[in-house]
This record gives sequence, C-alpha cells and structure tokens, in this order.
Amino acid sequence: MMKAVQVEHISKSYGKVMALQDISFEVNRGELFGIIGPDGAGKSTLFRILTTLLLPAGGTAKVDGLDTVKDFKEIRKRVGYMPGKFSLYQDLSVEENLTFFATVFQTTIQENYHLIEDIYKQIEPFKTRKAGALSGGMKQKLALCCALIHKPSVLFLDEPTTGVDPVSRKEFWEMLKRLKQQGISILVSTPYMDEATLCDRIALIRQGKFLNIDTPEHIMDAFGTDLWAIRAQNMYALLQDLRANEQVLSSFGFGDMHHITLKEGYSAAQLRCELEEKGHKGLLLESVRPNIEDCYMKLASQEHE
Ligand code: ADP
Repeated sequence: MMKAVQVEHISKSYGKVMALQDISFEVNRGELFGIIGPDGAGKSTLFRILTTLLLPAGGTAKVDGLDTVKDFKEIRKRVGYMPGKFSLYQDLSVEENLTFFATVFQTTIQENYHLIEDIYKQIEPFKTRKAGALSGGMKQKLALCCALIHKPSVLFLDEPTTGVDPVSRKEFWEMLKRLKQQGISILVSTPYMDEATLCDRIALIRQGKFLNIDTPEHIMDAFGTDLWAIRAQNMYALLQDLRANEQVLSSFGFGDMHHITLKEGYSAAQLRCELEEKGHKGLLLESVRPNIEDCYMKLASQEHE
C-alpha cells in the first residue's frame, strides 16, 4: 500500500545552521505519527518541506506518493497544514475564516461538514466573533477546522498544542484520534514529551537529526538500564551530591524528583546509605519505568558522546 509520507535523506540548512541532517522515515496510511523534540530541533522546517513550502537542499520526500518538488501543486490540494504560529485571519470572523479556506480549495463548508462537526460545534456559538478575539483553545480548534475543510488525505499539525491549556490539549488529542478513525493520516509535532504516548509511532528529533523512530512502547522498553527516582528534603544539596558521585551515571530533574541511573555493580541501597551518611533527610528512592523524556535524554547524551 502507498505510504502517506516517504522521506529519504532530506537535509536543509540556513547558512551555518544545519536545520535537518539526513532525515529518512515513512508514515503509514491512517497512522498518527509524532515528531517529538524541543524548540529549534527542526520540526517546522521538516513540515514546511513536506507541505511544499520550502525546498530541501538534498534528498527526496513524497506525500501520497507524489514528489514534494515536482508535484507540489497536486500535493497542496491534498494536504491540510496547521502551522505552528497562528495562521488565521485575525480580522475575519470564525465563519469567514472557515468560508475563506473552503473557497480557496473550491469546496464549501456544507460538503465536508461531517469532518469538522465535532470540533466546529464547540466554536459555532462564537461564529461571528473575530478570530483575533478568540481564546487560545478556540483559535486552535478553528485552525484545525480550516486545515480539514477540504478533506485532506494527510494532515500536518505543527505544534498544535503549544501554549494551549491542559484541558484543551487533552480534548485536542481526542479529536485527532477520531480523525484518524476517518482514515486521515496525521503528522503532528510537539515539544511536550508526555504527548508522545498518544501517537502510534514517534520520531525523537534533536538538532536536525532523528535519535530514534519507533512506537512509544518500544522506545520505553529499549531504555536498557534500571532507572530510579530520588527525592530528599534538600533537593539542591541532593543534586550536588549525585553529580559528585562517580557511581551515578546520569541525573535529571523531573518535577519534584531526580531521575538517576547507576553504574553496574553499584546498588540503590548503597547510594541510600551514602546519602544518609552525608546527612540527607526525608530520602525517597524508588525504581521507576522510564518515560519518553528519560529516553530522549539518554539518546541525546549518547549522541553527544
Ligand atoms: P522547531 O520547529 O523544531 O522549533 P525549526 O525548524 O523552526 O525548529 O528550526 C530549526 C533550526 O533552524 C533552528 O536552529 C532555527 O533557529 C533555524 N531556522 C529556522 N528557520 C530559519 C530561517 N528562516 N533562517 C535562519 N535560521 C532558521
């Protein structure tokens, strides 16, 4: 079956900045594929290449089997794109924005209303309000409706949940699940590592390179070493002591805990003893399952070496 997206050895630089370096991957039809990485990792550059708005310096990319350079006109009809920065016309109303996007693609709101109905219903009470006066969550819903109104076969969502409140973020991911069930292939990028597990497969991106591509479960299973969460009354002193301890391989802050890995042959019990001897109070040390952020940090530090 034809892939939704096929990328082979794509690279792109801006002057000295290598925004993408030899990226290759595929997205299956009907898949919800996540590109996960921090600001500046290259996510938007990749999305702009795939939506034909930017030319790659090297490599090839296909969307729906069509070449992003040769067949750009046809691709533009078939994809929906929600750019990272707010893309709507601030001075047009909700309804006018949607009508505009439908007209550009030579369709009507009525024709594909079933695709956006769930989402549009929530903003319909405000349909005469100017887009510029909507809340972040509502803007995001309208932008998604505008990206969907011409019934795209592949949907590109660049950081759709950045700056959106947690409740709207959760609702948004539920909407994506429903769209997927309608057969739309979705590429979504996010800097929020906790959203990775909501995707079928993910690529972890750092400084223009993919660290790994797999299902979130496989990535977490492949962590490879025991991971511990540790806390003490004085977290700052604890971090100093962990960093000074040569038996501690890595330590990263996660909320109110530090996540650490230990050298082989050095036990958590030994560490606890040593920290107690140093006078740490309220020590909590427990084994935890690595999350995607742990995996990202580990892969990033290996890459660095
Ligand atoms: P992300 O979407 O993950 O934040 P981008 O693709 O926007 O990443 O950026 C990747 C890198 O390329 C960053 O270092 C960024 O500063 C740089 N960059 C992006 N766009 C431009 C541009 N138009 N000119 C110069 N540098 C750019």
